[in-house]
Amino acid sequence: MASEISTRKVPFVDLGAQYRSIQDEIEPAISGVLERCDFILGDSVAQFEEEMAAYCEAGFAVGVDSGTSALELALMAVGIEAGDEVITAANTFIASALAISYVGATPVLVDIDPNTYQMDPNLLEAAISARTKAIMPVHLYGQPADMAAVTAIARRHGLKIIEDASQAHGARSAGRRVGALGDVGAFSLYPAKNLGAYGDAGVLVTNDQDVADKLRLLRNYGSTRKYHHEVRGFNRRLDTLQAAVLRVKLAHLDSWNSARRNHAEAYSRILAERVAAVETPQSAAGTEPVYHVYVIRHDDRDGLQRHLTAHGIATVIHYPMPIHLQPAYADLGYGVGSFPVTEDYANRILSLPMYAELEHRDLEYVCDAVASFT
Ligand SMILES: *Cc1c(COP(=O)(O)O)cnc(C)c1O
Repeated sequence: MASEISTRKVPFVDLGAQYRSIQDEIEPAISGVLERCDFILGDSVAQFEEEMAAYCEAGFAVGVDSGTSALELALMAVGIEAGDEVITAANTFIASALAISYVGATPVLVDIDPNTYQMDPNLLEAAISARTKAIMPVHLYGQPADMAAVTAIARRHGLKIIEDASQAHGARSAGRRVGALGDVGAFSLYPAKNLGAYGDAGVLVTNDQDVADKLRLLRNYGSTRKYHHEVRGFNRRLDTLQAAVLRVKLAHLDSWNSARRNHAEAYSRILAERVAAVETPQSAAGTEPVYHVYVIRHDDRDGLQRHLTAHGIATVIHYPMPIHLQPAYADLGYGVGSFPVTEDYANRILSLPMYAELEHRDLEYVCDAVASFT
């Protein structure tokens, strides 16, 4: 193995490999838009929305310009306003909290379940106040949050549910696709997501016609008829070029997700056989995860990461500094010790290379390198 150390490289994701596998489909899709010149809310946007709604087994889909916009417009469309509180998970990408702040509401955080990494529903009731209006579960790492428990609590307290499904395109919970399990679901379509555009993009799904109508207004200056403005909306539309790319990619998503699941199973099997010091991911019963990332835990995470880097293996930490310890959120009043599981895991988690095109011999090389550290 020593001879390989300096030469072999395993990237964290390989967008080029994916592009080469679909290049023949992407190029005509893009040139079709260039020929039609329907750059703004063109045919491909409506077609992608129809296909994404069907894929998510939802009534409606609305394309927007990023995942963060999707979350912000979702909150507005279900009536979240200044002064409200929205509960989300302590371990998530900062955009989940930022979107809540953008509408003038306050993000209230709860710690995660130590086995699944998802919002711990046992902590929800204690976080609910008279100002709480909604819960935003995040299907982090491509693992569905415990939607049965979240939904039961939301119903009991009359709260809306906005799913942040930005890492879980195609995942299932109790047989149903995530995104359409609450009032509205938001997906980032950032390039490296399981379904990613060639630039920024996002999409929302809902079964509620009123919510879908509001989203269409909000993303397009508050207008459905040109130069008539019902509300003060935004310019947050999904680009037609991106929609054309996304239509091509959506048709491959299930096969890419199943490749990711196969890689995850192989990682977990090989690591369990060979490396006692590593904790591998666990999924909740009745879920079908899509492994946006494959996260392990190790007590000497920084040492392991340096060791893998020396072997040419790229890794990432999702996330190294929890939201409540970020300077941007110092004013929430949390501190060290507020969310013990999230804080402990921030020091021990490490995401290994994961993408559909990952070759099995590269995966074995990563496992060999992890094993040679411990
Ligand atoms: C990627 C991501 C977002 C933000 O999406 P953008 O498209 O980058 O705005 C929000 N929430 C989660 C959980 C994400 O992973």
